[in-house]
Amino acid sequence: MASPKYFDTFRGLGTDAVHAGQDPDPVTGAVIPPISLSTTFKQRAAGQDSGYDYSRSGNPTRKAFETAVAALEHGKYGLAFASGSATTATVVASLPKGSHIVSVNDVYGGTYRFFTKVAPTLGYSTTFVDLADPANVLSAIRPDTRLVWIETPTNPTLRLVDIAAVAAHAHRANKDIIVVVDNTFLSPYFQQPLALGADVVVHSVTKYINGHSDAVMGVAVTSRDDLYEKLKFLQNSIGAVPSAFDCFLANRGLKTLHVRMAQHARNAAAVAAALESSPLVENVIYPGLKSHPQHELAKRQMRGFGGMISFRIKGDLATSNAFLRHLKYFTLAESLGGVESLAELPAVMTHGSVAPEDRAVLGITDTLLRLSVGIEETEDLVQDVLQALLKASQLGKAKL
Ligand SMILES: *Cc1c(COP(=O)(O)O)cnc(C)c1O
Repeated sequence: MASPKYFDTFRGLGTDAVHAGQDPDPVTGAVIPPISLSTTFKQRAAGQDSGYDYSRSGNPTRKAFETAVAALEHGKYGLAFASGSATTATVVASLPKGSHIVSVNDVYGGTYRFFTKVAPTLGYSTTFVDLADPANVLSAIRPDTRLVWIETPTNPTLRLVDIAAVAAHAHRANKDIIVVVDNTFLSPYFQQPLALGADVVVHSVTKYINGHSDAVMGVAVTSRDDLYEKLKFLQNSIGAVPSAFDCFLANRGLKTLHVRMAQHARNAAAVAAALESSPLVENVIYPGLKSHPQHELAKRQMRGFGGMISFRIKGDLATSNAFLRHLKYFTLAESLGGVESLAELPAVMTHGSVAPEDRAVLGITDTLLRLSVGIEETEDLVQDVLQALLKASQLGKAKL
């Protein structure tokens, strides 16, 4: 379980964000690691390289980013990939042939698609389970289960999973099970799954880690030598690696992670409070609100509550659309985690391909809106949401 010791792991995070893996260039003294575009590296004699031979296998700019992100997650090793999705695929490919996977049920759409449409063709099967009660994982674990996949908070309904409890259950059931946590929604600034017992942490770097909505990338972090060796082999063998330029961007983004995340959370708390006190809103889902059913778990497991909010507007699909149309600073777009605020309608956009009956089970209604709260001035965002609510509700009244 999380303890004061767990919260100690966040100490020094901002210093690591700026310095880990960022030693000045030994030849030129360049303070910022250069973008190393060379695909190949000169050898002193056949077979004698300087740590790099070919850029898919290893690249200095990628290495700088991998070292930095590993430090922030308190892991020994980081491995970068071409996307969050490529990271997921590579982790699954590391499992023994025919393995069974247990996944939280409202997992990221792309991960669900991979587990249900791609993994079976490679011989893997997946059971999806509601992990609101961590002990539920036990009913899904079989003798051939080798992976338990957790995402917390989930998307878009921000349900939480008790990482320490699920990891303890899974490891007690079978020590060969690896527990993987997709930490995209919080970043290591707010949640450190390895310290809670996870074996691997993965991220869509595309979101908060890069933080500027200008690179698609992924990363996996682990402290286990055996898992690192497997994933490193597959990173090179499958070859879904990011470009040096994207590694440079993500590394630059990572340096301000602590500053950005603090402002994301400050703004999200203010916007969530404003939404919750509005008579035009049915309910607000934000782990930092006392009304969140898992607020106590949030306080135990997360150092803060993040920048993502979902809420249900009073009205119907037309009201949702009117709200989105009237926003000034929130841009209507998919994705999340960038400095700029975004808003979207999951039922039509990010979760449009989820079957209507499954959407109903997950609570993804036509009036559920998702906000990725950016780092703009707090009051501007609060006022923006309130004025858009008012305009959307006036449209409702005009229709009556
Ligand atoms: C976006 C996202 C992914 C997929 O990452 P890509 O970089 O888009 O491939 C995985 N998990 C979560 C939680 C995400 O938000």
